[in-house]
Amino acid sequence: MEQNTYDIIIAGGGIMGCATAYYLMKSDPSLKLAVVEKDPAYERASTTLSMANVRIQFSLEENVRISQYAFEKLETFEEDMVVEDRKPAIAYRREGNLFLFDDKNHAAAAEAYGMQKKLGCDIEWWDSRTIGERYPLYDPSPYGGGTYGAKDGHFDAYAVLAGYKAKAKSLGALFIQDEITTISRSGDIVQGVSLASGEDLSAEIVINCAGAWCSRLAETAGVRLPVQPVSRQVFALDTQVKPDGPLPLTVLPSGLFFRSETGGLILLGKSMTEDPVGFNFSWDDKRFMEVLWPELAEFVPAFEALKLVRGWAGLYAVNTLDSNAILGEWPELKGFYLANGFSGHGLQQAPAVGRYLSELILRNPHKLDLSTFSPNRILDRRPLSEAGLV
Ligand SMILES: Cc1cc2nc3c(=O)[nH]c(=O)nc-3n(C[C@H](O)[C@H](O)[C@H](O)COP(=O)(O)OP(=O)(O)OC[C@H]3O[C@@H](n4cnc5c(N)ncnc54)[C@H](O)[C@@H]3O)c2cc1C
Repeated sequence: MEQNTYDIIIAGGGIMGCATAYYLMKSDPSLKLAVVEKDPAYERASTTLSMANVRIQFSLEENVRISQYAFEKLETFEEDMVVEDRKPAIAYRREGNLFLFDDKNHAAAAEAYGMQKKLGCDIEWWDSRTIGERYPLYDPSPYGGGTYGAKDGHFDAYAVLAGYKAKAKSLGALFIQDEITTISRSGDIVQGVSLASGEDLSAEIVINCAGAWCSRLAETAGVRLPVQPVSRQVFALDTQVKPDGPLPLTVLPSGLFFRSETGGLILLGKSMTEDPVGFNFSWDDKRFMEVLWPELAEFVPAFEALKLVRGWAGLYAVNTLDSNAILGEWPELKGFYLANGFSGHGLQQAPAVGRYLSELILRNPHKLDLSTFSPNRILDRRPLSEAGLV
């Protein structure tokens, strides 16, 4: 094989690119595979700017199964990713997720709860009195209750990315620091990529793992994806009153969410309709002070006194058709695979997605069939329904 010719090129080395590289190399170490990443510091990658939460609280069965798979993989991740005695430390903390419901979303919560129970998930139905007993700082009186996933939690997203990356490298994947400027095609077959450095790389398979930049990249091959970068903000808070124990990721029906972070801090966010579309990384303390803080203090009166320590903005790659993943080969361009459009829940989907794509490409049987997320639905305009979006 010529020097610049690969079996597979992965565009983007965030968590999707690294997990996919790992599963491909694990299944077939003879593969010549390159991951091209423009910013190995991951300053603007969604992976490193996320809330790093994992939960089974979704309404689409496949999304629940994806998270069940993530739970299983995260439990043994540190052992599985050992490279020459170096073990990653991913700080996997199963501190729970609590989704509150009101009259408006009571029925949807009950339906999702029933499905999650059927799939064997660790999920509890709490009335508002129980919520108040478990978390005495909360005032749940305006709400009917909540669903509590005791095994849900969070982890160090960068450590997981780095764990996959180190393991994929040890199995033979090559990581190239460069920017892909064009995905080349000949007729309806993908040919490879061109890099900002001027080099051209050939491959019969190119996987788009470019996160919020995926549409821009796909466009260079003439493929239009319904995925937009949307800026989301996160705030880190130092509250005067500290809870007795860790607070679960708590999601109010309004979409406000917060959880305990290491160092006694609270992380908080809310997706808002005015969040700008585009590559916007600015955050706005006024939004916290004027809108989010009063909302937080209403639910947790003890958080009336706090200090805003810092904030940041990262990008959701929002699939405007249905906010769900787009996985598999683009039907109109042979060899062009997608792992895109994860909106606000892609991090936890990386293990299942990486595995699924490697099975699809290497034509191995599926451990978890994710064909429901096939790109065909984009062309046919058949949205999937997921009520558990944050
Ligand atoms: C504020 C926030 C909170 C979130 N919270 C959660 C959460 O709690 N749980 C959860 O599961 N998900 C969460 N998400 C979503 C999650 O972060 C993403 O779905 C996930 O990280 C996507 O991974 P990725 O690898 O596709 O994208 P990224 O991590 O963005 O990686 C894409 C990479 O591609 C590279 N790239 C792009 N274009 C090119 C090019 N042309 N050439 C070379 N390299 C390129 C970029 O530099 C980047 O490193 C959150 C996201 C945000 C913004």
